[in-house]
Amino acid sequence: MTATRDFISEDGGSVPVAARADLVVVGGGPAGISAAVAGARQGLSVILLERYAYLGGLASGGMVLVLDDMCNGTEISVRGLCAEMIGRMERLGLCVTPPEEERVSDWNLWRKWSRWGVFDFHSHQKPQPICYASAFDPDGFKRVANDMVAEAKIQLRLHSWFSKTIIEDGKATGVIVESKEGRQAILGDVIVDATGDLDVAASAGTPFIKGSYIVTTVFRLGGVDTEEAERFEFEEPEAFHAIDREAKKIMGGSWDKWWLKTPLPGIVWCNCPHMVNYDGLSVADLTRADFEGRTRIAALLEFVRAKLPGFQNAFIVDVAPQLGIRQTRLLEGRYVVTKEDVAQRRHFPDSVARGRDYYYPYRSLLPQGVDQLLVAGRHYSATSSAQRISREIPPCMAMGEAVGVAAALALEANASVGLIDVKALQSRLRAQGADPGDVPAANATVDIVEAAE
Ligand SMILES: Cc1cc2nc3c(=O)[nH]c(=O)nc-3n(C[C@H](O)[C@H](O)[C@H](O)COP(=O)(O)OP(=O)(O)OC[C@H]3O[C@@H](n4cnc5c(N)ncnc54)[C@H](O)[C@@H]3O)c2cc1C
Repeated sequence: MTATRDFISEDGGSVPVAARADLVVVGGGPAGISAAVAGARQGLSVILLERYAYLGGLASGGMVLVLDDMCNGTEISVRGLCAEMIGRMERLGLCVTPPEEERVSDWNLWRKWSRWGVFDFHSHQKPQPICYASAFDPDGFKRVANDMVAEAKIQLRLHSWFSKTIIEDGKATGVIVESKEGRQAILGDVIVDATGDLDVAASAGTPFIKGSYIVTTVFRLGGVDTEEAERFEFEEPEAFHAIDREAKKIMGGSWDKWWLKTPLPGIVWCNCPHMVNYDGLSVADLTRADFEGRTRIAALLEFVRAKLPGFQNAFIVDVAPQLGIRQTRLLEGRYVVTKEDVAQRRHFPDSVARGRDYYYPYRSLLPQGVDQLLVAGRHYSATSSAQRISREIPPCMAMGEAVGVAAALALEANASVGLIDVKALQSRLRAQGADPGDVPAANATVDIVEAAE
C-alpha cells in the first residue's frame, strides 16, 4: 500500500484520506477514551474512531455497570482519568461509591452495599469487605466521555468501522475505515489499537493468540422493589436461596449476585446469563448468542415476576446493544503476562498501569514486528487465564492513559514508541494523578534483581 497527500492506493483502487493527526485511536471504549484524552492533554492532535453511535464500549453499550478492580485492600490502585470519570458522574448523580468509612467487613454494611456490587469479591473474609468501587449509569458514562473528549478538542469520528491497518516500512501510519461515506483513510504518526478484539494489530500482522471466555447478554429490569427484594434475601434466607437457585438454573449460569442496583431507582442490571462455546469474532456465533440470551431473559422474567418478592411488577428496560464479549484475540507482545504474574502480584520495573493488586509492564502494550503501534485494553498481551482476572474497566482505562502519554513522549523525541524512556513515562503519569505502579505495593512480588537495583 502506498500513500500520497490525499489518497492511499491499495489493490483495487484508491482510498481518500479523510483526516490525519499525531495520534489515531481506534475504539472508543474505556481504554480508547483514556488514550485519546491523555494524548490530547499532552498537546497531541488526536482522532478517535468508533464503530457505534456512542462512546464507552462495554461500559455503556455492554451495560457493564460496576467499576471495580481499582483497590488493593484499602489502597486505591487506579487513579487518574478513571477517578476523574467517577467524580464527574457522581456530580451528575449518576454514580454511587461507598464512603471511605464504610469500606470494611461488617454485616450491616454488607446488607447496605452488597446489592450494589461494590465489595471485594476476591476476599475470603466473611462478609467480604465493602471496597472502593462505583456503580454507574451507562448514559452517565457516555455523557461524561463526550464532555472529556470535547473539552480535549479530540476529533471524534463515530460510525466508522476499522477495516485495515496501513503499514509503510514496518510502521503503522494509519487505518482504513468503512462508513456511510465509503472507505476512508485516517492517517497518524502513532496508532493505538483499543478495539478490545485486537483488530488493528491483527491486521498489521503482529503475533496474537486466540482466547475465549463466557459471553453475556446483559439486560436491565425496571419496576423492581429493591427494598422488598433485599428484605426477602436477608430476612428469609432459606426461601430466598431456593428461588435464587431456580432463577440461576433458568439462566444456565451467572455470578452469585445476578442482579445489582443502579443509581436509577427501581432499575437493576443483570450481569447474566453466562453462555459458553461462542466465538466473539464469528458473525454466526454472535447472532446465535443474542438469540440464546434473549430466550433465557424472557424465561427468567416470567419466573421472577411469579416467584421472587420485589420483582412482581418487573419489566425489561433494555437488553444491552452490545453482546458482552470478554475475550477474543490477545496480543503476543514483547512480554506476555501470565496467570502467575497476576496472582502473585508480580511487579515489573517498566510497570505503567495497575489493576487491583497487579501490574501491567509497558512491554505488554507493545506489539512485535510493527512500529508506532500501541495496544491498550482487554486484548493486552496476556495468556487467556491471566486476562480473565485482569481485564476490568478501571485497569483498561489506566492502560489507555499510559499509551496516550507514551505516544506524546515518542513524538516529542522523534523516537519509536518501543524506545521511549519508561521512567519519564512513569513520572509524567504520576504528575497528572495516575498511578503507573512504578512503586511496588507492600504485597507485590519483587524480583531479586529488581530489588537490588
Ligand atoms: C458481561 C461482562 C461483564 C463485565 N463485568 C465487569 C464489571 O463488573 N466491572 C468491570 O470493571 N469490568 C467488567 N467487565 C470487563 C470490561 O467491561 C471490559 O474488559 C472493558 O470494557 C474493556 O475495555 P476496552 O476499552 O478494552 O474494550 P471495549 O469495552 O470492548 O471497547 C472497545 C471499543 O472499540 C470499538 N470497536 C471494536 N472494534 C471496532 C472496529 N472494528 N472499528 C471501530 N471501533 C471498534 C467498540 O465498539 C468499543 O467501543 C465485564 C465484561 C463483560 C463482557
